Amino acid sequence: MTSPPSPEDFLPIEKVELHQHVDGSMPAAFTWELMLANGLAPVKTFDEMQRLLVLQDHEEGSLLDYLDKFHYPLWVTQFYQNIADATFRIAEEAYSKGVRGLELRYAPNIHTYAGLTLRQAIGSVLSGMNRAERELQGMRCGLIVIAMRHFGPHIAKILARQAISEGQQFHDRVGVVGFDIAGAERGNPPVLFREAFDIARKGRLGLTLHAGEDGAADYVWQAIDDIGATRIGHGCAALNDPTLMKRLARDQVVVECCITSNYQTNAAKRGEPHPIVAFLEAGVPVAICTDNTTVSNTDQLEECVLAAELIGVDAVHQILAATPSYSFIRGLRIPSRRTRRR
Ligand SMILES: [Zn+2]
Repeated sequence: MTSPPSPEDFLPIEKVELHQHVDGSMPAAFTWELMLANGLAPVKTFDEMQRLLVLQDHEEGSLLDYLDKFHYPLWVTQFYQNIADATFRIAEEAYSKGVRGLELRYAPNIHTYAGLTLRQAIGSVLSGMNRAERELQGMRCGLIVIAMRHFGPHIAKILARQAISEGQQFHDRVGVVGFDIAGAERGNPPVLFREAFDIARKGRLGLTLHAGEDGAADYVWQAIDDIGATRIGHGCAALNDPTLMKRLARDQVVVECCITSNYQTNAAKRGEPHPIVAFLEAGVPVAICTDNTTVSNTDQLEECVLAAELIGVDAVHQILAATPSYSFIRGLRIPSRRTRRR
């Protein structure tokens, strides 16, 4: 009998995170610190704050309930230094789990209510990432700019233009590496955002979309056929469409799998194996991702353990070894499978 997988199986491996949101990953203790410092605390104790930030069991069930947890972080992430510091804290936490390539994603326009410009909202995350690369030895970072679906295609185009002007190729170190759409999926199909993705592609950004999380398989088809995405966030709905599974495998479109989050939003059914199993069986490349370490109360190691319980430790090691090649971060080199000490 082999022992069940544990976080220690994956801690020494250098990992690359491809799908993690800034707002949903701010460490709860740090959000509490900012709430107090800014005179904004909505509750009396840290425990109460934590319950507001982390999805509770009874709150599970839909993407919309899940998205509700992003409400409080936005109170403090309207200010440049707060955003920069939050980004650094997220990177520091990921680093402690052996992450050495970190793609964070973020919707700049929902961080401009206190007067930041879109460029400043993007620059604040990049500032935190630059600090992470400076202070955490061997860490590489890149930002994926998100257009929230409910703001519509025109705002998405404006964001795509802002994103390409901060592209990694124009910077010494970190920059924007990708473009994405997120938020309430149904009724907002990818094809509506084609022009925004055309701008992002011409600006040499990587293309990934939240698709097939709450929406139908058709949205995943659109993400590939109409948008030309090389990666898909979640993609769970593809499971019901064998032709789509073959297509994802043929074109080697990477599915960013977020196991905990998918159960919480009901994109995957509790009691059934996560779609990552079917993706692997069909030959679809996958990455193991956290989505939101605070809202989902998880981290890279926990997600690796969950995956290993389904597909085995060796298969997870193979996925981790392949993941750097799917990253949008230019020049990402993961030199060895073992993490070096800070
Ligand atoms: Zn996501």
